[in-house]
Amino acid sequence: MSNLSKNARQQLEEKYTIGIQAPSTTQTSTDGTKKYLYNIDSNGSVESAFIPETKRNTLCLSTQVGCKMRCLFCMTGRQGLKSNLTAGEIINQLRSLPERHQITNLVYMGMGEPFDNIEAVMQSLEILTADWGMGWSKRRITVSTIGIVPAMKIFLEKSECHLAVSLHTPFETERKMLMPVSHVHSISDIISEIKRHDIGRQRRISFEYIVFGGINDSPKHVKELAKILNGIKCRINLIRFHPIPNTQLTGTNEKRLQEFKEALMDKGIITTIRASRGQDIDAACGLLSTKQKGN
Ligand code: SF4
Repeated sequence: MSNLSKNARQQLEEKYTIGIQAPSTTQTSTDGTKKYLYNIDSNGSVESAFIPETKRNTLCLSTQVGCKMRCLFCMTGRQGLKSNLTAGEIINQLRSLPERHQITNLVYMGMGEPFDNIEAVMQSLEILTADWGMGWSKRRITVSTIGIVPAMKIFLEKSECHLAVSLHTPFETERKMLMPVSHVHSISDIISEIKRHDIGRQRRISFEYIVFGGINDSPKHVKELAKILNGIKCRINLIRFHPIPNTQLTGTNEKRLQEFKEALMDKGIITTIRASRGQDIDAACGLLSTKQKGN
């Protein structure tokens, strides 16, 4: 760029990176799902999953290398936190993809807890949705959290994107066992914070619920879910557990999963079962990057 002054070129070189970092590895499932792996400096790698469907194509983005939250069912949690992604690194997962023009929906549900990296996540959302940025509709972006309440408050106030809260059980004691974050941010604090906000008609709040066999799939869970979610316009997404090594957790069986869904619907809660994708390509989040590291 010899039409710029030497000083300007030097500043650009020092302060900015241009270009796009291509993924280092790609895995393709027989169902069309693709997992991309990106190297992030010397700190390790992150995954993004491209999930094609009939009417939409979703990209699942990562926000951190590893994660410090140590949820019992999660491979990424076992890595510990290595570093936060920058807004640029988050958006690169979209911009560098061969399928970038086909993607209709973005979900921040990959490696890391988005609200543990709230600054970069909010920056990335602004770049994605601003008219001066990439002009994405806020209605096509969902950010998932395990419920870091102060950051969730910032997100609910400053963004209009959808929110997905990983709940996984309505009982505090059980949640503390599954998700240590519950010792700091209780279910009641999370629910109260959501209730404080005017969600509006366009915005969607959903609760993610991995259904484990014999742990969180009983009628008492249905009853308590209906009780705590009363008053919130929301839906529940039931998720099949993707097995990870060295855990006693198992997914519930298909019959029970369907019954659990029906029971929640009977209570008036819109409930869906998320289709399992990429079963043949290390579907569990964090599995591919963990294998890459040789852990
Ligand atoms: S489920 Fe999310 S928040 Fe929990 S350890 Fe895994 S990446 Fe972190």
